[in-house]
Amino acid sequence: MNIHEYQAKVVLREFGVPVARGIAVFNVGDAVNAAEELGGPVWVVKAQIHAGGRGKGGGVKVVKSLDDVRKEAERMLGMTLVTHQTGPHGRVVRRLYIEEGSAIERELYLSALVDRSSSRVAFIASTEGGMDIEAVAKDTPEKIKTFTVDPACGYSPYVGLEIATALNLHGDQAKQCGTLIKTLYEAFVAKDMSLLEINPLVVTKDGRVLCLDAKINFDDNALFRHKDVQALRDPDEEDPMEREAAKYELSYVKLDGSIGCMVNGAGLAMATMDIIKLYGEEPANFLDVGGGASKEKVTAAFKIILSDPNVKGILVNIFGGIMRCDIIAEGIIAAAHEAKLAVPLVVRLEGTNVEQGKRILAGSGLPIVSASDLADAAQKIVAAVQAH
Ligand code: GDP
Ligand code: MN
Repeated sequence: MNIHEYQAKVVLREFGVPVARGIAVFNVGDAVNAAEELGGPVWVVKAQIHAGGRGKGGGVKVVKSLDDVRKEAERMLGMTLVTHQTGPHGRVVRRLYIEEGSAIERELYLSALVDRSSSRVAFIASTEGGMDIEAVAKDTPEKIKTFTVDPACGYSPYVGLEIATALNLHGDQAKQCGTLIKTLYEAFVAKDMSLLEINPLVVTKDGRVLCLDAKINFDDNALFRHKDVQALRDPDEEDPMEREAAKYELSYVKLDGSIGCMVNGAGLAMATMDIIKLYGEEPANFLDVGGGASKEKVTAAFKIILSDPNVKGILVNIFGGIMRCDIIAEGIIAAAHEAKLAVPLVVRLEGTNVEQGKRILAGSGLPIVSASDLADAAQKIVAAVQAH
């Protein structure tokens, strides 16, 4: 789960991480009031969307008068901000963050993530922070350094010092950096983050080490124990289909092909997608309905698949293990009626009561094509879609 920059800064501030003062607003009037309250003389007006690259896209402006705060707020609110991270359709700006301006001496890069290869939280640091970190990673990867934290010991001052050195921070700034790494690590672990990115981390002209931008991703599997984090969810920033799927505990990822897939089990779903490709078509989605494929779940899954205008046919591939095939067949029929299915549907069932399940499908009066195995199912749906 992602949150906005201003929310990330609230989370980090609770742990003592140094961030500038700022106020989140939803309209122009409040933007000006917020700027007045912060006091100036320099403010930064920042569009809040779940994507980076805002600076280059016109979503971050440093201004020096209340008039300009108003102008920038008017320009940004409601605009569709396109950045290299939003894709060509961009994101509508609905919230702004008004922050006190900082005088920047140096822009650095710092992030923390769960590093799978070392099974540790890793910090990534670079002296080349700011808006071009992607270019640094591509052209001069040696300028990006990685440090891992041993979970048995947690943060140690040694790691802080190493990172300070990599960032070319010395003396008091190295000390600030050490404290920063310690508090960021604590926040990362306590809140079950999967990614924490500070770009830029800056050294101000008066010698402070300050987090000027903040991006946080939380581990969805741990969200159940962070009600406060769940409350930060912004539905406007989430894909409506993936949100609907999450409501029914379906794992759904939209793809670009024409064959909708409804499968139970991630492995079987992957195999189904592979075999569709093998026979010459592309899957329209990954969808794992999970173990207990109830009628409600199957119906929701059908509706989600059918809401994608690219879908020209559906392949259901379900293994009835604990869930019996006859129950699944009844669920499919009910769902096909309710979701007003108007594209070819091929069903491959296997497992407990499979014969009974197939009989129910055959007797349904619906144009459902039964398949005997995976290859047969894929060939049948590909043929149906191509004939359509
Ligand atoms: P992003 O482009 O979405 O990553 O947005 P950032 O929050 O990182 O802001 C982009 C850039 O705006 C930063 O790299 C800074 O160069 C600049 N910026 C942000 N806040 C300030 C500030 O308080 N003072 C100054 N001078 N520049 C700022
Ligand atoms: Mn940034």
